[in-house]
Amino acid sequence: MVSLNSKELHFLLVPWLAQSHIIPLTDFAKLLALHGVSVSIITTPINAQRYKSIVTHALKSNLKVQLIPLYFPSQEFGLPQGCENTDTLNSLEFFKDFFLASEMMQEPLEKLIQNLEPKPSCIISSSLLTWTQQVASNFKIPRYIFQTVSCFNLYCSYILNQTKIQETLVLDSDSFLIPNVPHKIELTKAQLPYDSRKQSSQDVQSIIDKIKQSQDLAKGTLIHTFEELEPWYIDAYKKVVNKVFCVGPVSLCNKEMDEMVDRGNKASIDEHNTCLNWLDSMKPKSVIYACFGSLCNISFLQMKEIGLGLESSNVPFIWIIRGLNFTPQVEKWLRDENFEERVKGRGMIIRGWGPQVLILSHPSVGGFLTHCGWNSALEGISCGVPMITFPMFAEQFYNEKFIVNVLRIGVRVGVEVSIDSWDEEKNGVLVNKDQVKKAIDQLMDKGLEGEERRKSAKELAHLSKKAIQEEGSSYLNIKIFIEDVLHVLKNKEEGS
Ligand code: UDP
Repeated sequence: MVSLNSKELHFLLVPWLAQSHIIPLTDFAKLLALHGVSVSIITTPINAQRYKSIVTHALKSNLKVQLIPLYFPSQEFGLPQGCENTDTLNSLEFFKDFFLASEMMQEPLEKLIQNLEPKPSCIISSSLLTWTQQVASNFKIPRYIFQTVSCFNLYCSYILNQTKIQETLVLDSDSFLIPNVPHKIELTKAQLPYDSRKQSSQDVQSIIDKIKQSQDLAKGTLIHTFEELEPWYIDAYKKVVNKVFCVGPVSLCNKEMDEMVDRGNKASIDEHNTCLNWLDSMKPKSVIYACFGSLCNISFLQMKEIGLGLESSNVPFIWIIRGLNFTPQVEKWLRDENFEERVKGRGMIIRGWGPQVLILSHPSVGGFLTHCGWNSALEGISCGVPMITFPMFAEQFYNEKFIVNVLRIGVRVGVEVSIDSWDEEKNGVLVNKDQVKKAIDQLMDKGLEGEERRKSAKELAHLSKKAIQEEGSSYLNIKIFIEDVLHVLKNKEEGS
């Protein structure tokens, strides 16, 4: 067999079916293709339709990127028709069925690979898609994992797994310090991700075990972070797992306006005429951008507190109310209160999907009220925007600690406990309008503390951009990663 060169490599990217995985992996596809390789993104028909514009943008730049849809058996697993992305699940109870349905993609993927040209040389997948390890083994190609969380989070979770401190905590309010890290990171039991806080059911434990096993078999891990952002935590994590490549922030691959607009869903607003004109009319760094990601179900009462807090801050704002949170009750409240009239001229509500990266990179934006999803956090960091942290579940409290205590570019709104379900009414009110207003006042403050935060945020944005540029750390790490794949394939050839 003749040895491959990097231009002949063909990568299969298989993201978990959630916005927070498909978006960064499609961005990463473009960064990878910039090195001359071919990339195929494997997803489902509805997601392929949603993301098709990325292929148009990639082709315009002569990048070899394609999307390949595979059948997803939603209805066979009791999920609603068309449910092919976790952002359409309105209860965590469906998660297990969704996970099981995703496992059914293995066979169609194997059939696809048999006929795919050029032959795939490597699989990169989210850690949740454990069956992709089996596919890689069957076709004798390497598999790497793509992590959409920080090394800070990965390392702190590793420490908890080693020390089992969480098992000594009794009350939800019991707090502890993460040991053996250079920053003072204090969390309570109630702020830990569900599986570190509660005994997992057998089903969930078996999913966790599968993830761990397939992670151990992977050839390496690509992480959505960059070397200059968290050097201590990256070094520490590199000592505990095999081969780490930090390749972010991937959102910076979107340079043109239409690329930023077409990320994820189609934006629910006429981005040029409305959103941008409005932002253009605002003073530099004066606007708060409020967005809570693609998954969080926020209760009606909490929505009201957020709206009233934004209003009473007297600061201009853009507030994204995602589709599933935009209930008839919320609409009625906005109408009965005449809310939009009351904030006219300084408050804009986007119902559905906002062009987040486009908004965050506008010079009028001075603060980001965020739920602390890692992609959002990194997008805020790469645009140099200080943040108000409003974590709700999963690893979001770790991200809050990272933004506030490690990077010192954020202010807590004051959420104390993680929510346990996506049942919005059960989740009630996590913070009230006064806390929202207070955090906005603090973040936008012109005093020394506010200036320090803005300065640090600006420096991090500069470092992010450098990391992605040619010869920057993430650019070079992608190059090293490609060489690693070539090396693994060469060893395989020699061995066979
Ligand atoms: N996003 C967006 N517009 C929205 C909501 C979300 O573009 O109105 C994007 C956001 O830029 C990010 C992703 O969706 O890339 C959300 O991922 P994250 O990890 O922040 O949070 P999750 O949705 O998983 O909670």
